[in-house]
Amino acid sequence: MQVPVLTYHGVNIDGNAYAGNDHVAFAADLELIHELGLRIVPAQWVVDQLLGRTQRDLRRCVALTCDDGSNFDYDDLDHPTHGRQISFHSALRAFRARHGERAQPDLHLTSFVIADPFARKRMDEQCLVGRDWMQSRWWRAARDGGLVAIENHSWDHNHPCLATPGPHGLARGDFHAVADDAQAEFEIAQSQHFLAQQLAPHAPRLFCYPFGHVNDFLRTDWLPRRGPAVGLDAAFGDGAAPATPASDRWNVPRYICGWHWRSPEALRGILEAANRE
Ligand SMILES: [Zn+2]
Repeated sequence: MQVPVLTYHGVNIDGNAYAGNDHVAFAADLELIHELGLRIVPAQWVVDQLLGRTQRDLRRCVALTCDDGSNFDYDDLDHPTHGRQISFHSALRAFRARHGERAQPDLHLTSFVIADPFARKRMDEQCLVGRDWMQSRWWRAARDGGLVAIENHSWDHNHPCLATPGPHGLARGDFHAVADDAQAEFEIAQSQHFLAQQLAPHAPRLFCYPFGHVNDFLRTDWLPRRGPAVGLDAAFGDGAAPATPASDRWNVPRYICGWHWRSPEALRGILEAANRE
């Protein structure tokens, strides 16, 4: 297993060219992955393999994820400057419609969402344009559609738009700040609980670190100690390497669109390098 896990952000919309728009990139990348003869599989499959639960053939596979859980993941929305944006979910459906179900039978996207309704509302007002685009309304529909998993991107991203200090003395704006048990319970366990309530009977099993801040306390202490008890199988970071059997379960690497690659050619390079013998 040597699986690149790719990451997109639905709110990355700066123009309508590949390099500044994760929706344009995502739709193009689906086609590129398919053209290269690679198979898209759920991120959970990569984790199951890493934990030795399964022995699937995951050669020449790719997993797709997206972060922050804005409505741009699911709804086609009219961006105030850049016009109509086709959601990740719509892009998956369009791919399916174009190529048929047998082309990528395991086509899947893992969407890491922020739990706290108040934090989402605040982000919508302060970081987006105040049109209620950080809802949870679409989570269940996305999951029930079979192409998307909803997973844990923390309680409130410890986002800088929130009043500081937050609960348990948490200095805002940085996920490295989550450095004791009470803070980790607040940011991760609380989110597990909330998402499980929202998505019952499904429970989230994957976490990804906000800002890509892979925190040593969480990675080496809290998650190994408490992760499985709160239902977590693994945590994703941004290590820009393929996931392999040697990957750290609590820091499974991912590649970030717009950072680790900004063109189809660069992504092709990443995918080909991962699949070189
Ligand atoms: Zn994030």
